[in-house]
Amino acid sequence: MKIETQAVHAGDRKRNPNSPGAFVPVTTPIYTAASYAYASAEKLDRVLGREEEGFCYSRYDNPTNAALEELMATLEGGQGALACSSGMTALHIAVLAALTDRRKSILSASAIYGATTSLLTKILEPLGIEITFMDACNLDEVREKIADTKPGCVLIETISNPLLRVAALDKIAELTRAAGAALLVDNTFATPLMARPLEWGAHLVVHSATKFLAGHGDVLGGVIVGDAEHAERLKVMNRTLGCSLGPFEAYLTMRGIKTFALRMERQCSNACRIASWLGSHPRVSRVHYLADPKHPDAAVIRRLLPNGLYGAIVSFELKDASKQDVLNFMDRLKLIVSATSLGDVHSLLLYPAISSHRDVAPKQRERMGIHDGFVRLCAGIEAVDDIIADLDQALQMDQGPHLGRAPQGVHSPE
Ligand code: PLP
Repeated sequence: MKIETQAVHAGDRKRNPNSPGAFVPVTTPIYTAASYAYASAEKLDRVLGREEEGFCYSRYDNPTNAALEELMATLEGGQGALACSSGMTALHIAVLAALTDRRKSILSASAIYGATTSLLTKILEPLGIEITFMDACNLDEVREKIADTKPGCVLIETISNPLLRVAALDKIAELTRAAGAALLVDNTFATPLMARPLEWGAHLVVHSATKFLAGHGDVLGGVIVGDAEHAERLKVMNRTLGCSLGPFEAYLTMRGIKTFALRMERQCSNACRIASWLGSHPRVSRVHYLADPKHPDAAVIRRLLPNGLYGAIVSFELKDASKQDVLNFMDRLKLIVSATSLGDVHSLLLYPAISSHRDVAPKQRERMGIHDGFVRLCAGIEAVDDIIADLDQALQMDQGPHLGRAPQGVHSPE
């Protein structure tokens, strides 16, 4: 079945043989119970001993989470999944699962989400895990660094944040596997509608479900999907670590996923229109978007993402803009919400210099290509003409700040 169909049906309609009349809920309900009882102690013994399927304690497993996990394993083509309390928890657990029986060394793309860099350098490195960074879009560098550092795990995002670079993940999977390492891919920006990294040879895929999957800005969650080698390991680790998503959030995430393909298609087509409109705007000096034939990774994009979807995110640079000019631009937006996050039904604009890349020294930011005028827009599902009209009025730079509405004022550091 196609992914749009799987998104609506997978994981649902589990028959409970103990329910009166053995009815089947059409959509999976929220199971809040911490523990589960059985008609006989013998049966409980078999379930606890995992000789028989069933639920006994919600840290081990929960019917709502199990439905979401089955859904995500289906969408990503994996053998099993674990729903976690956030995308960051998912990344942490996935790294532990990858390194369990491998060299305690991680080779990571340098262009990754800021908190992922912090996980590597501030939490895992002080514990003795070797961390090396690389330009994942330079295959020669990837090959050399794999040979030099002999990593146990290679970590990459399908579409990098916020410069939207796309590494040759299929080739990197070959190099990683040949070296006996595990390839861990953060597929948050692409979603399984655009990319299914396990099919390219990745071992583990991670999502911040907070973003496109849940999609409505009302859930914090994460999911890991594993291949045959890692799926069971994730579940066993979670029995001890207890990093599970709560059942309410699992329900909301599953509900969100039923419409994610529809939303994603609309968000991608909105982003495409916005990117081409921005490309001819006199106040915009540069647009970063995957559909651009001059994109530095255009050949990889054509090979790996051939289905005509180029993502919902457009990054662009305001011409000759200072930090104050960008803050004024943000304050003039009336429809687009200036806030952290992405993937929601509403359009979101993020200014990396004050948020995701706040802790990066300005000179280093410049070297990375994140100039003072650089902003990241995630298109929502609104009518694209309204989004463009909002950008158009906010780009009238000589208006000064705060025309149109009161400043939003609240900007989170991440
Ligand atoms: N991975 C990527 C690419 C992200 O953008 C984020 C959050 O913005 C995360 C992981 C972390 O997810 P969460 O905020 O759900 O912990």
